[in-house]
Amino acid sequence: MSAPNPRYRTEILPYGKAAIAEAARLIGQGLPVAMPTETVYGLAADATNGEAVARIYEAKGRPGFNPLIVHVSGLAEAEQHGFFPEAALMAARHYWPGALTIVVPRREDSPVASLATAGLASIALRCPNHQAMQDLLAAVGRPLAAPSANASGGISPTNVDHVLKTLEARIPLVIDGGHTAQGVESTIVSFLDGKLALLRPGPIDIAQLAAVTGLPIGERSARIEAPGQMRSHYAPEKTLRLDAIQREPHEWMIGFGPCDGDDNLSPGGDVIEAASRLFDALHRADDSDKPAIAVAPIPKTGIGAAINDRLSRAAAPR
Ligand code: AMP
Ligand code: MG
Repeated sequence: MSAPNPRYRTEILPYGKAAIAEAARLIGQGLPVAMPTETVYGLAADATNGEAVARIYEAKGRPGFNPLIVHVSGLAEAEQHGFFPEAALMAARHYWPGALTIVVPRREDSPVASLATAGLASIALRCPNHQAMQDLLAAVGRPLAAPSANASGGISPTNVDHVLKTLEARIPLVIDGGHTAQGVESTIVSFLDGKLALLRPGPIDIAQLAAVTGLPIGERSARIEAPGQMRSHYAPEKTLRLDAIQREPHEWMIGFGPCDGDDNLSPGGDVIEAASRLFDALHRADDSDKPAIAVAPIPKTGIGAAINDRLSRAAAPR
């Protein structure tokens, strides 16, 4: 992916009141900020702001979209975004705050942007056990989407130098909280269809988790782990035609810029705005009365590459 725009003089502030206030200000402006958590450094942005979430992908230079973990201040806040079956409640009460990410069905009335959950009907939630992240969540008053604070393909960062190695000049601020305590990403489990499944191993003892929830742990799928390869990744049901200049009569047209349609990802031709609207537009296209979908050409550079990646997966025969 090409070097993202805009570029920043990345500020490094030691964790403290001033750093949290500055981070909250930047996040309020829709920008991502690198933060320590107890697992690895995260790149945090307002999960309810689709364009802010798009800027996470832009900074990481991710070649595609995969669903992000949404960080919350506690179980009460988590329940505003997901439906927690009894076993998931037990897990949250036992392990939160901590290195357990819980995937549950997403509430339709959750204000979390569809880009943060990659259009899925489920949502990954975690309450982190690190004072800096807790302070930031309190200061922002919104859930924070936060994947690891490294460029795509890089190793998860456990100190500020690791973050700067790949994100220097791509983000406005890193908060320095020293070396992270655990150094590996959170354990991810899902509570979907009454079953408990391990999606990513991590710091949590899985046998203990099974005992806490009273559920056996299902086999983890190798495919679900590879970012962007999850079978459950949202893709429309209908056939999709890319780089369409004009719609055919049987098609619902998703426009971009001056190439207009039934919908338009960004009339002004802004790829960040287009990314933030992508999954909502695909859902609307699926719900329309037209049997097929056409999508206008979208630039293939920067985050446009991730948009085209998602669209070409959706267009591929399944
Ligand atoms: P990261 O935020 O980079 O630590 O990665 C988040 C991980 O959580 C990825 O492996 C995602 O595939 C996984 N994940 C996030 N949301 C969901 C979801 N709704 N269903 C299944 N896996 C998820
Ligand atoms: Mg990572």
